[in-house]
Amino acid sequence: MSDKKLIVGNWKMNLTVHEASLYVHTLEKELTTHRNVEVVLAPGMLALPTLALQIDHKKFKLAAQNFYWRDEGAFTGEVSAHQLHGLVKYALVGHSERRHVFHEGDKDIRAKMQAAVRNGITPILCVGETAHERSENETDAVLHDQLIGGLANLTSEEVEAIVIAYEPVWAIGTGNNAAPHDVEAAVASIRRQIEHLYGKKASDLRVIYGGSVSGASAGSYLRTPGVDGLLPGGASLKKEEFTEIIEAAHKAGKGKKA
Ligand code: PEP
Repeated sequence: MSDKKLIVGNWKMNLTVHEASLYVHTLEKELTTHRNVEVVLAPGMLALPTLALQIDHKKFKLAAQNFYWRDEGAFTGEVSAHQLHGLVKYALVGHSERRHVFHEGDKDIRAKMQAAVRNGITPILCVGETAHERSENETDAVLHDQLIGGLANLTSEEVEAIVIAYEPVWAIGTGNNAAPHDVEAAVASIRRQIEHLYGKKASDLRVIYGGSVSGASAGSYLRTPGVDGLLPGGASLKKEEFTEIIEAAHKAGKGKKA
């Protein structure tokens, strides 16, 4: 497992290809590269080929926000992990907007996890409870079901190499970010459950937090035990704030080998 802090900016359905290209151009100029931080951009699908040609791959890696689990065939309008191979290093799987707006279930999610791994792309499996589930004390149970549901097709070695993003649904895009001690508890629960299902080595996988992360709050999560990085959405579209998050990751990761 890498000791680098992982920062993944999810741009969601924002920015045209032209805007994305301009944004990366300014980001690239203003961002300092740190050996202990891996910066990943998840732009809209259309911008991926342009950014893949444009970016300094030592500064940024790319991620897909979504893909279809079959490799090829009669699936009009879809893009496969096989087609994304070579363009992206990572891909989000099971983001709460995919689960709740597009009704993706465990069956789709585990097929996508397997498709990403099969095509040499590191999947970032997003898991997290709704506000109602939290109020009913069901967070651990929800995480358990989402982990079992999403990881069922993978081996322990494959699980060890993926990334899990703990993203409580109530914290995404709401400005209502989770308290670091709640994130610590949820991340510990994720690691415990992975250890139980896939063994000690696999439980050392990278776990990151997402949910209304800002430049100001980033440091508190990055210093939280068990948290290996962040998945900011809104804040990743604001140059100053995204830069602040990366600097916070650099500071939090100091002293660790890159
Ligand atoms: C996300 O897109 O996964 C996310 C956490 O968004 P935001 O930071 O805007 O809440």
